[in-house]
Amino acid sequence: MSNLQQAEIPAVELRSLDTLWFQVSGTLCNLACSHCLVSASPTNRTHEHLSLSKVEGYLDEAVRLGVREFYFTGGEPFLNPEMEAILERTLELGPATVLTNGLLLNTERCARLKQMSDRSDYSLDLRVSIDGYDSASNDPIRGEGSFVRILKGIGNLAAAGLNPVITVTEVCSEVASAKGRERFFEVLREHGLEKPRLKILPVFKIGAESERGGDYADWQRLKPEDALDGRWDHLQCSSSRMVTASGVWVCPILINVPGGRMGERIADTLGDYPLAHQACWTCHVEGATCRT
Ligand code: SF4
Repeated sequence: MSNLQQAEIPAVELRSLDTLWFQVSGTLCNLACSHCLVSASPTNRTHEHLSLSKVEGYLDEAVRLGVREFYFTGGEPFLNPEMEAILERTLELGPATVLTNGLLLNTERCARLKQMSDRSDYSLDLRVSIDGYDSASNDPIRGEGSFVRILKGIGNLAAAGLNPVITVTEVCSEVASAKGRERFFEVLREHGLEKPRLKILPVFKIGAESERGGDYADWQRLKPEDALDGRWDHLQCSSSRMVTASGVWVCPILINVPGGRMGERIADTLGDYPLAHQACWTCHVEGATCRT
């Protein structure tokens, strides 16, 4: 890359570490969704599980840096055999959110999660992903038989007294309309969520999704003049970092991009980050954040 091209890449400043993410189950998942931006699957070992002891080290460091909340994702977090112990420890320090596909949420686990939530001074939020309001719309994306199993997990959470956030990507085009969203709410109410909460996520053309839906066009990249009032504070990388088993990365989206790794400890990652990847364009134009 020429010096001129490098000069055209804007950089985002980490203004504060508000949110710390953990790629707690690495890229291992019990599903292999066709739109997964990190290409998680039962066989993808690009990133391995994080151990409780490794998580504890990062929790302590983050608390010293003034972190406000913690998020856990994967892959499927509950494949990690230490996930519940990790959550117990985290909830001693701050609010926690788990992004799950819902398949491992049996009645016993949901009851334990509710107890954990009730014992903590901090909130525990579960986020369950689904991509359609019936098997015909969801299963081609998330896998044969997954719709029924996801709704079973959602129902188990509701029965335990937890109200998860349900996330749907724009791959499910119906969520763009009020009528489509109302249809989702109806399905969720039928499965025990009296006051359903829905988060709609944009599509990032990376990982498995780039094979399903195609790559970015060449013009879809950020330039310095795209900054809002000269700043990038609206991007989640201005206030968060992502811990994996192989160090600390800039954000939950770029964990398979070699340039996404910023260091071994959080302290190594407090500097600016160049917004060179085309996924950064999606964050900017969609106002996207992986937070709830
Ligand atoms: S993909 Fe989004 S969150 Fe990640 S570095 Fe780019 S702008 Fe920031």
